[in-house]
Amino acid sequence: MKIHEYQAKELLAQYKVPTPKGQVATTVGEAEKIASDLMCWPLVVKAQVHVGGRGKAGGVKVVKDMAALKGAAESILNLSIKGIKVRKVLIEPAVDIKQEIYLGLILDRSTQRPVIMACAEGGVEIEELAVTNPDAILKLPIPPTYGLRPHHVREVATFLRIPETAKKSFNAIMGGLVKAFYEKDCSLAEVNPLVITGLGDAIACDAKINFDDNALYKHPELESLRDTGEEEPLEVLASEKKLNYVKLEGKIGCIVNGAGLAMGTMDIVKHFGGEPANFLDIGGGAKAEQVADALKLITADPNVNTIFFNIFGGIVRCDLVAQGILQALDSMDKFPYPIVIRLSGTNEEIAKQILDENKGKVKSKGTEMTLMPTMAEGARKAVEISKSRAAA
Ligand code: GDP
Ligand code: MN
Repeated sequence: MKIHEYQAKELLAQYKVPTPKGQVATTVGEAEKIASDLMCWPLVVKAQVHVGGRGKAGGVKVVKDMAALKGAAESILNLSIKGIKVRKVLIEPAVDIKQEIYLGLILDRSTQRPVIMACAEGGVEIEELAVTNPDAILKLPIPPTYGLRPHHVREVATFLRIPETAKKSFNAIMGGLVKAFYEKDCSLAEVNPLVITGLGDAIACDAKINFDDNALYKHPELESLRDTGEEEPLEVLASEKKLNYVKLEGKIGCIVNGAGLAMGTMDIVKHFGGEPANFLDIGGGAKAEQVADALKLITADPNVNTIFFNIFGGIVRCDLVAQGILQALDSMDKFPYPIVIRLSGTNEEIAKQILDENKGKVKSKGTEMTLMPTMAEGARKAVEISKSRAAA
């Protein structure tokens, strides 16, 4: 789960990380009110969207008076950055920047631990830097067993040549960042830029935090930070229905039980020359209602032209999946997508019989259903149908 910069800064402030104290506005009027309350110039107006690179896109403006603030708030609130409409701006006292530094913490899957990344040239995106100047980045794994130690902080501060005056505030930023990362189960926590100010202090000028979705159940306090307006609408719907869904760009909607089989299904669809429209795992105990939800979810994607069910009945019973398909078709007037179905395992014979006997009885008549005996044949058939529909 991603959150906004202002939320990340509020969270880090709870961990004693020094940040500028600002407020969020959704209208120019609110922005003016905040500015007159803050009573200090210059201020900075920053677009709050779940994407990076706002600076380059004109989403960050330093302003010296009320007229400039109004202009900046108005233009940023009318901006779209990387396709996302800006709906909120953060207004905060501008930082007097002497140096911009990158400091981040990510979960590194290869070393199986959180890794600190630091670079004395901050401001730019780290992915870019990793390509253009990898030697300029320090990577320091933090052992999960005993966490951050003073020698880690010293090593990073030395690498970054943090001036003596900024050591105390730099320690606070690094300590708070690591503590927040652990306690809130983050997958990423980043301060970019971490600024050394004209007065010689360190301050978190921008902050970005992503939480590990699989650990969110441990953190009910984070629920209110979710901004579903920024997320892929179909993925929001899927998470409400407790379906494990990722939208992709192809035309074949895949409904599969089990994450491993779902990955295998995407591979085999590609192998036969098709493109999956999604990853979707309906889970090990898929019930009729979930199958119906899954069908509705997938067909809400306008790219989809064919549905491929790939179900292996281990724990899941094929007859329940068959009932789910019929139930979904019965709840719609029309279902204009051909469905290719591969069902094997527990109760597969009953499932086939149920589909055969009832497919004529559901409300949305005339849906083309093709049962295929194996995964490969099912995928091949789905690709063939999808291609002929795309050509038509
Ligand atoms: P991002 O582009 O989305 O990562 O947004 P940032 O918050 O990192 O801002 C981009 C750039 O705008 C920074 O690297 C700074 O150069 C500049 N900037 C951001 N906040 C301030 C500020 O308070 N004062 C000044 N002078 N520049 C700022
Ligand atoms: Mn930034």
